[in-house]
Amino acid sequence: MAEEKEEVKTFKELGICEQLLEACETLGWKNPTKIQVEAIPHALEGKDMIGLAQTGSGKTGAFALPILQALLDSPQAFFTCVLSPTRELAIQIAEQFEALGCGIGVRCAVLVGGVDMVQQAIALAKRPHIVVGTPGRLLDHLSNTKGFSLRMLKYLVLDEADRLLNEDFEKSIDEILNAIPRERRTYLFSATMTKKVKKLQRACLRNPVKIEAASKYSTVDTLKQQYRFVPAKYKSKRLGALNKFKARECNILICTDVASRGLDIPAVDMVINYDIPSSSKDYIHRVGRTARAGRSGVAISLVNQYELEWYIQIEKLIGKKLPEFPAQEEEVLLLLERVTEAKRISQMVSLCGSKRRRKAGGDDGEEEIERYLGNKNGKKSKKLKR
Ligand code: AMP
Repeated sequence: MAEEKEEVKTFKELGICEQLLEACETLGWKNPTKIQVEAIPHALEGKDMIGLAQTGSGKTGAFALPILQALLDSPQAFFTCVLSPTRELAIQIAEQFEALGCGIGVRCAVLVGGVDMVQQAIALAKRPHIVVGTPGRLLDHLSNTKGFSLRMLKYLVLDEADRLLNEDFEKSIDEILNAIPRERRTYLFSATMTKKVKKLQRACLRNPVKIEAASKYSTVDTLKQQYRFVPAKYKSKRLGALNKFKARECNILICTDVASRGLDIPAVDMVINYDIPSSSKDYIHRVGRTARAGRSGVAISLVNQYELEWYIQIEKLIGKKLPEFPAQEEEVLLLLERVTEAKRISQMVSLCGSKRRRKAGGDDGEEEIERYLGNKNGKKSKKLKR
């Protein structure tokens, strides 16, 4: 049977207007992501939505674009309120609204803790179209900032609802819901569907359409995944390369699990799993650093004989048998020989350098290397022979 090809949609086909199409182009968003394809047409029809999607899926664009389009049709202050569980996420959301809406003059205010209330009150006095905040601080302003109300609100977005519904926020959210009109559109996004999220959905959404970007433990289709068996004795030390990587000094990130969650660095092309995580879910988080938001990416896993069991569990979880990375073993062993030789030379140079320095009180590493290479090219060194 012929395989059914998934049709690539454009933002235009989803019903996005000209001004916002230009914004997408400026941002380099060539095609909508899966969650955007599914969400935008329903949102433009004026439906409430519940979306199962994680950060990295393009979910912010999925709600920001239809909201901005509706704002263009009927501009007003305090049009939309977005609730986020963290300051960082709130700032990220406001940045996307501003980037997408800069051509249409959209005004945003971010209301999060740890920042001066007065500055935020000044931002509110400018009557922004979009307010993005954490529940506690938003409620604080609703109670204490003169002239600020959400009585004319048209759209409410609850982002990362599963995290919003912890005990600290639950009460604030109830109070915010009481301070906004019942007649509104509501979008709820969550990575997981917990009992509390279901309860919130019943309380504040009307006949929502349910959309899903990907099941929680699957990897995206644009990610090419491979593995390579490597005996344990050939694994050398880990590189803590994140900072260099972020600064674009290096273009490959070799990640530990510290870097496996929450990083949104759009330019990651490849993830190498240098070791195999014992928890298969960690594998999903790690490889999710690449192939983000519709882009392509590659993930290669180096599997040794002791990690085989974990690797098999990963294949079970993602429901795929991964192909082997096609490396030529002789070539790899040849490279290994050269790396080992380079390592030996560098150790000798540094040993010889520190002895000389101690003797002469100097510290010129480059000179040292040259001296050593000179010695290697014919001139004998008594010291190196020792
Ligand atoms: P989000 O899941 O909303 O946090 O988005 C994750 C990243 O994907 C952000 O850096 C967005 O700018 C980017 N993004 C969102 N939609 C698209 C798209 N259609 N094409 C390319 N990048 C996108």
